[in-house]
Amino acid sequence: MLRPFPPSWYHVEAGEIAPRPRLQGETKADICIVGGGFTGLSAALTLAEAGASVVVLEADRIGYGASGRNGGQIHSGQRRDVLWLEKHYGFARAKALWDVGERAKALVRRLAARFGQPVADGLVETFHREADSHENEHFVEALTSRYGYSDVAVLSRDAVAAAVGSTSYVGGLRDGGAGHLDPYRFALGMAKAAEAAGARVFEESPALSYGRNGGFAVRTQAGSVTADRLILATNGRSGPLEKLTRRRTLGINSFMVATEPLGNLAQTVLPGGECASDSYFVVCYWRKTPDGRLLFGGGESNAGAIPGSIADFVRPHLTRVYPQLKNVGIAHGWGGVVSITPERVPFIRSLGDGVSAAAGFSGQGVALAPYIGHLLAEEALGRAPDDLKLYADLRISQVPDITWIRRGLVRLALLRGRIADRF
Ligand SMILES: Cc1cc2nc3c(=O)[nH]c(=O)nc-3n(C[C@H](O)[C@H](O)[C@H](O)COP(=O)(O)OP(=O)(O)OC[C@H]3O[C@@H](n4cnc5c(N)ncnc54)[C@H](O)[C@@H]3O)c2cc1C
Repeated sequence: MLRPFPPSWYHVEAGEIAPRPRLQGETKADICIVGGGFTGLSAALTLAEAGASVVVLEADRIGYGASGRNGGQIHSGQRRDVLWLEKHYGFARAKALWDVGERAKALVRRLAARFGQPVADGLVETFHREADSHENEHFVEALTSRYGYSDVAVLSRDAVAAAVGSTSYVGGLRDGGAGHLDPYRFALGMAKAAEAAGARVFEESPALSYGRNGGFAVRTQAGSVTADRLILATNGRSGPLEKLTRRRTLGINSFMVATEPLGNLAQTVLPGGECASDSYFVVCYWRKTPDGRLLFGGGESNAGAIPGSIADFVRPHLTRVYPQLKNVGIAHGWGGVVSITPERVPFIRSLGDGVSAAAGFSGQGVALAPYIGHLLAEEALGRAPDDLKLYADLRISQVPDITWIRRGLVRLALLRGRIADRF
């Protein structure tokens, strides 16, 4: 709930946004949503447009959580690929979850068009190991032959070098149905549309506790909301409010930089205007802005550990991929918390008695979180969407609610990942 990171490039670039009010005094709503990121805002939009009275409580400013700090990459499918899902849950579930991902991308594109936010097409996934490249061929073959997805192709070493402008990788794939956008402006678009439909959005109003009194009473520092239903859209980062999502999620800091405009070098980087990511455990992800900057994510740390200079922390990752950019200035650095579950499948549950929650999109929430928010709203309206049921019994291990153990687990995972990345 603290804001330990500098604002993102998107926040800076958008300029000052008029603050929304804090909640003062008592109010009532049909549904109270806690969290003003993609999940909560999308739920608010669907509910308000269906005529429900909605209050959104956001601890910080709208879009100051992961939703306004991320790489903006709209991925296909789930964080776990279809081969992993097939192995653990069988083909039918894997296919159904793949189709959810397709509906999620379509919703983001529809909403972005409605808010006047451009979406650029295409994602290049790059691989640094021959073994990943071979697995990639199976994956692409499965998608095209059994999942009905033809907008994907294997890229050879030369093709990937041409697509991203880097010789660091041995192969890759191009997903033409993926894409990228400015996530903060997208979140702001959702907030404005929800408000236009009647939702009331409060900023700097962390929900501190909730209790049942027939419905729910959600308490903030200076007020309370009485509601029939509650949607917890805090991404597992709700402080003392509730432990259910926190016990299924861990936070990893991921850092990003925005370079100065690349000028003549811009054409050497992602000449097709796609976005890209790589196969390292400490993943790099990047895309260009319309004014020719590179937005580059690389370098992770334990929640709570923020490097003194984010630019210096990210730069080695950037120059490993793009040595030609070693003299390019970094205009801004920031970070955010990626909320993951141990199994990297999101925790999306009805918690009983009118409370539902979603968290832990594990680095793949740009497409999924708005769609899941929409589904949680549909559920609150009594429509019990089938897509939501697909997540209800996905196995997710519990994580102890003890800060030093949680940090130790992340540190260990990062250490193992860094070692694996060397081979
Ligand atoms: C650096 C970074 C890069 C990423 N890159 C990508 C990417 O390229 N593609 C992709 O698909 N995903 C990416 N992700 C993940 C993606 O951003 C998230 O999955 C997605 O934004 C989750 O949305 P959300 O609404 O569930 O959570 P959030 O956006 O985190 O929103 C939760 C909100 O709840 C609020 N909150 C918490 N507790 C309370 C409380 N008690 N009371 C009131 N409000 C509260 C928080 O302040 C926050 O605003 C990235 C994440 C980070 C950090």
